[in-house]
Amino acid sequence: MCGCPVAPTLSPFRPIPGGPSPDPLHGSFRSPLNRARAESAAQHAQQLLEDEALTRLLTTPRAPTRDTVPRAREVFVNRNLRMSGVELIGFDMDYTLAIYHMRRLEQLSFDMTLAKLISEYHYPPLVGNLLYDHHFVMRGLAVDRLNGNILKMDRFGHVGRAYHGLRPLKSEVQRELYRNKRVRLRNPQFAWNDTLFALPETCLFAGIIELLESLGQSVDYGKLYDDIREAIDAVHRDNSLKREVRKDLGRYVFLDPELGPALHKLRSGGKRLFLLTNSAWDYTDAVMKYLLDGQLPEYPSWRNYFDVVVTAAGKPGFFTDARPFLELDTSTEEGRSVGEATSLDRGKAYSGGNLARFEELTGYRGENILYVGDHIYGDILKSKKSSLWRTCMVVQEIEDEITYTATRREEIGTLTQMEILRERLDDEVNHHKTLLNLMERRLEREPLTPEERESVEEQRRQLKAELDKMRRALKDATGIADTLEEDVEEGFNPYWGLLFKEGNENSRFGYQVEQYACLYTSRVSNFLHHSPMQYYRSPRDQMPHEQAGALSARLSPMGGEGPPKGAGKD
Ligand SMILES: [Mg+2]
Repeated sequence: MCGCPVAPTLSPFRPIPGGPSPDPLHGSFRSPLNRARAESAAQHAQQLLEDEALTRLLTTPRAPTRDTVPRAREVFVNRNLRMSGVELIGFDMDYTLAIYHMRRLEQLSFDMTLAKLISEYHYPPLVGNLLYDHHFVMRGLAVDRLNGNILKMDRFGHVGRAYHGLRPLKSEVQRELYRNKRVRLRNPQFAWNDTLFALPETCLFAGIIELLESLGQSVDYGKLYDDIREAIDAVHRDNSLKREVRKDLGRYVFLDPELGPALHKLRSGGKRLFLLTNSAWDYTDAVMKYLLDGQLPEYPSWRNYFDVVVTAAGKPGFFTDARPFLELDTSTEEGRSVGEATSLDRGKAYSGGNLARFEELTGYRGENILYVGDHIYGDILKSKKSSLWRTCMVVQEIEDEITYTATRREEIGTLTQMEILRERLDDEVNHHKTLLNLMERRLEREPLTPEERESVEEQRRQLKAELDKMRRALKDATGIADTLEEDVEEGFNPYWGLLFKEGNENSRFGYQVEQYACLYTSRVSNFLHHSPMQYYRSPRDQMPHEQAGALSARLSPMGGEGPPKGAGKD
């Protein structure tokens, strides 16, 4: 007899050959468990769920308190974060502690960059007539430097929307250029616009292309993009923009009366705070004075809130390079350096520095540090990759997006229903088609009596009528879903739709926020409404096959073609 093992065969009917007993083939669900312990836990769970007094406590509507905050000002959680383990909290300044009036600052930056392009880069004076369109910009857009297009991608890097100049790219061109291509941001062909300071660049890029091409001129897109980038960077680097902002801080920076109390609350919870900004000392001092000086009697100066103040930090280089900390003489406005620092002391201010030395000098490291910033690359991604610092991203645009989507709740609900309906219809249409095929084959091949034939014919007619009805409904549901989706998205931004979504998927920007930030929120003062010891818990992560209602891949209401991932979790 041959001693060869019998070749195993996959059964079409059982999920796992061999079934749950005697042994699983792939899993380890038969590993020894303490059944008694698990059963008692399950019973205990039942008691907890049936505890009437507890249910009453949890379902009684809360009376409004000082701490009732709108959803738009919540702190959202991607990864669990236990604040009791955080000892040191750092803050970026621009767009983090200091929330800028985006439109006004963008307009200023647009005007100054345009003036520079004409005077120093010799662009025709005609481009000076371009108007800034606040709607045309959004964080997370990419510029295709080769083809002169602006793109919005979903989380997979697939292009959902594209503009050339101020016009949507023709769909056949979009398909040809990007259909089978993922936009990889490492590819120098693409430039990723992820800082709020650089937002006007997409509007300048598109506006200049639109203008020059309408005059019949050809445009070197790569050079145009580089010129704009350089000019916009120069406006920031040579301080000309910040000089203007400083002249009228009240015009450009929002005062947040809850900022001081929020920082105070964190300090009262035993946290030490630090400031880590790329802005130079003179500008930092001016903005921070404006934001915080005298807001609370216990803190006459903004510097009283912070144990360490680091300016001109050069992030993201701060997280990877080895620049020394320089101590600054803050008795003069410009804060000249007085030499390398050997300690980081309260009441003093520094510039430069690096991550390793920071941890060495403060004595705090890794997970005991939470850093709050607004720049996905410079503040969040780099700190995450180079250290174990926990991160919170400030995304001021969330307030608009949540407020807006709340006003469209009804349409979004209908859209979700239509998407689920579409998926069910798709599934049922396929099922009906299979049955019809079977019947047709029977009619063709099997010897049937006239009565049998008549009965099968009748069933076939009925199936055919049902199939037609469902096909019409599928077409209707698809049309309704497309219209509602377009309407909801374009109501938020006529060019680019929602910031965090691209179609059914998260946008590339939303994906990055989810990937790299432990927490995200619209402003620092949102921490005022939470305990400094809060345990921020993320919703349990579920893959599509785990999600509620996912009876099978075909019927899952949550698949890639279904409603947004977070739908129904509200
Ligand atoms: Mg910033």
